[in-house]
Amino acid sequence: KSFKELGVMDSLCEACENLGYKNPTSIQVESIPVALEGKDLIGLAETGSGKTAAFAIPILQALWDNPTGLFACILAPTRELAFQISEQFEALGGGIGVRSAVIVGGMDMMTQSVALGKKPHILVATPGRLLDHLENTKGFSLRNLKYLVMDEADRLLDMDFGPILDKILKVIPQTRRTYLFSATMTSKVEKLQRASLSSPVRISV
Ligand code: AMP
Repeated sequence: KSFKELGVMDSLCEACENLGYKNPTSIQVESIPVALEGKDLIGLAETGSGKTAAFAIPILQALWDNPTGLFACILAPTRELAFQISEQFEALGGGIGVRSAVIVGGMDMMTQSVALGKKPHILVATPGRLLDHLENTKGFSLRNLKYLVMDEADRLLDMDFGPILDKILKVIPQTRRTYLFSATMTSKVEKLQRASLSSPVRISV
């Protein structure tokens, strides 16, 4: 199947082509049509499977249809992963004018507050620093968020981000779509899934 056959819009098909993505990977074939239908997703997939584009493409397509404020937040366990995710959003969405910000620990809070003030569409964050901004940065909230992604959920929970995730989940609208990606399905991941997803479609590659 081609990206177009999965329902991906032309400008994003072009972006994929420019990045050298000739064909969608298995996780992309399974996830993209389901996500474009507006369903929640659980993806069991490892890094290297193309999972980032599997969630970035449907989010960018929805953003294109309805560009309203801070649109999506992607939670990642590490700074390195957060930057990689943001790079893929920029690479895929740069052509349609998408702005993203990375909010991770170990970097200046003030600089990040300024970045948040510039109203990015996509926020990629590690949970601790995101909560810090939610509690301390004036005018910043996730009140209008449309999409939440928890990437490498098993690692997020192994790193004891669970209580922080619970707090973040409380301030995000219930009406959002949620995608959870994990390399393994542990009992902690199951619990997080039950607390945060609604009738998700489960995809494993
Ligand atoms: P990920 O699993 O998201 O970490 O992606 C692994 C790598 O595969 C990244 O460098 C992506 O740019 C690349 N990639 C994602 N989708 C495709 C595709 N359909 N064809 C070729 N490469 C891809």
